[in-house]
Amino acid sequence: MNCVKCQTDKPIYIHTCLGCAVRLVKSARPSRKKQEMMILYISHYGKFSRDTILEALKNDTANATSAKLS
Ligand SMILES: [Zn+2]
Repeated sequence: MNCVKCQTDKPIYIHTCLGCAVRLVKSARPSRKKQEMMILYISHYGKFSRDTILEALKNDTANATSAKLS
């Protein structure tokens, strides 16, 4: 799964990229606990706040066809 924002095709996550942050959290699905840990991790080491990540996740979910709010 590539990042649509920074266009990386490498299996890495860029701390400064919101698209990568969303990918990272989604990679922890379906475990809600792991997703929470990822959000904590990103908000600690990355430049995005928890609210920003949650908002991005919500938008991403809204755009996905099969996903429902978790
Ligand atoms: Zn990215």
